[in-house]
Amino acid sequence: MSGTDSANTPQMEQHSFSAEVGQLLDLVVNSLYSDREIFLRELVANAADAIDKRRFEALTTPALALPENPSIRIVPDKKTKTLTLSDDGLGMSREELVENLGTIARSGTRAFGEKLTHAKPEERPSLIGQFGVGFYSAFMVADRVEVISRKAGTDTAASWVSEGKGAYALGSAQRDHAGTDIILYMKDDATEFLDSWRLRSIIRKWADHISWPVILREEKEDGESEDQTVNEGTALWKRPKSDITPEQYKEFYQHVARAFDEPYTTLHWHAEGTTEFTALLFFPGARPMDFMEQSSRESRIHLHVKRMFITDEAHLVPNWLRFVQGVVDTDDLPLNVSREMLQSTPVLARIRKAVTRRVVTELKNRAQAGGDEFISFWENFGLVVKEGLWEDSEHRQEIAEFARFRSTHDDGFTTLDDYISRMKPEQETIYYLVGDNLEALKASAQLEGFRARGLEVLLLSDAVDSFWPDRLHSYKDKIFRSVAQAHGDLEKFAAESEEQGEPAEMDKLIPALKDALGEAVKDVRSTVRLTGSAVVLTTEGGPDLAIQRLMRRSGQELPATPPVLELNPRHPLIRALADRVEKGEGVSEHARILLDLARVQEGEPLPDPSGFARSLAVLLAGKVDA
Ligand code: ADP
Ligand code: MG
Repeated sequence: MSGTDSANTPQMEQHSFSAEVGQLLDLVVNSLYSDREIFLRELVANAADAIDKRRFEALTTPALALPENPSIRIVPDKKTKTLTLSDDGLGMSREELVENLGTIARSGTRAFGEKLTHAKPEERPSLIGQFGVGFYSAFMVADRVEVISRKAGTDTAASWVSEGKGAYALGSAQRDHAGTDIILYMKDDATEFLDSWRLRSIIRKWADHISWPVILREEKEDGESEDQTVNEGTALWKRPKSDITPEQYKEFYQHVARAFDEPYTTLHWHAEGTTEFTALLFFPGARPMDFMEQSSRESRIHLHVKRMFITDEAHLVPNWLRFVQGVVDTDDLPLNVSREMLQSTPVLARIRKAVTRRVVTELKNRAQAGGDEFISFWENFGLVVKEGLWEDSEHRQEIAEFARFRSTHDDGFTTLDDYISRMKPEQETIYYLVGDNLEALKASAQLEGFRARGLEVLLLSDAVDSFWPDRLHSYKDKIFRSVAQAHGDLEKFAAESEEQGEPAEMDKLIPALKDALGEAVKDVRSTVRLTGSAVVLTTEGGPDLAIQRLMRRSGQELPATPPVLELNPRHPLIRALADRVEKGEGVSEHARILLDLARVQEGEPLPDPSGFARSLAVLLAGKVDA
């Protein structure tokens, strides 16, 4: 038997939730009313996780071994209006109760709160799963939750009690063996969850794939009660493909990925040969909410041995394929495989290789089939796939073949092959421009000369885009070059339309500006690549300014490299300045404003914004004579 000394006695120690937990509780309780049944999925999943963890820990610490026939037990009691879930898992110490149930270790909570408030009701349950705030969903149905837990390997139990209103209490408790009980004191309007038919159907819906038995106590007509295992717990992937319906695949995907969308691709195969394994993998149909914020870039494909869950940290595919979800199961490893062994065994190396090969092939096939489905897949995960262009030398060229890019050609996506097919006869280079977002890129002055000459430019706005073009270097012998550094290339190509206006005489203006700007620029020169703008900034012998910005934002230290200021000799502003210099008037104030204008246009921060504002005000008032 287990139990607390009656709760809230003086021995109980009162604690407050961290502020974030408080907020979250409010949100979960108040915005998820219609989806309340998922509390059971969350609690059962936690119990199953705890049993998995204990089994894995016991491999290295035999004292933690699971009891015979470990299970998850659910006992409804209509008389006391309680629902109790018990498991034989790893359990929690007093400190762990505080850490796991009293605070939120991860940072996504606020974001979660905002998403939740704005999400459509039908999207809300999936949010809960994705952000792992599962335990608190208990407060949707209970106005008081009591947790009694005994950590495996210890002989004391602790209790945690809360009414979900800002505070919880800790105390000591008894429990005969390791594991956790969660006792829900049901709200008056949630007693439906004490009906066994209701519980059974929820478990069948949400927890059928849990591999440990979920045992429900059912009261019979005669007042007797009976324990029944309600989940199937069969390893779906071990069944022949022909026996599995699309609906079952989908349910399994949602279970294993904790997702709510339809999978885009389902891959189910059995590999035979030197290493035998079965894999059931999915490409998600939607991008998980916190996908890009996840601190881990590693794959979470589940590794099973002889149907037993071992770990989701076996890195079964390279990081750029981390969107792939699912299960790989092999008989070629021992059930008591240790962490060390997982790192060194050639069996796993072979499985990794084969799984990766199959996934890459599927990606290629999907890309070839194309269509809206692939485009939306690419919009969801392309930015992760492109990481492979940078860090996976083995697959880099293959990825380049199917990758999709925005370009100046049209509003859709293009492949590199299509880009090449549209290249000018004398063009040898794949031009690209990196920037913060697509709209800014489309409007960039850097593109003017390329547009005027009908040269297509790839528009790259994902963070990873600042890294891969250098690494990939070329595709089908065409070298990648940033337009921000390709000023010399344009002279080779004729402009498609008449250039506007007479060019100014630049011979005196350029030295005057150089003189005025000094160290702030590396050079000042005339350019043919502007058609509408007066000035543009470029770099020489270093990364593009946009790339430097992205790199600094991602925390890298970079030496400041002064930019090159390029001038459009046909622009009225430049012509006016050239006239001033001809007449022997000063341009030093103008020079600084010109450089700042170029910075603003480029999205660069101004070194002295108020100085810029002052100078501009004076200039607009027509009072400059510097
Ligand atoms: P998540 O499961 O995503 O981590 P939860 O809110 O569901 O988030 O649970 C928080 C943590 O509480 C879990 O990570 C786990 O450490 C602990 N926990 C919850 N339920 C149990 C349980 N039945 N046995 C052991 N630990 C548990
Ligand atoms: Mg959970």
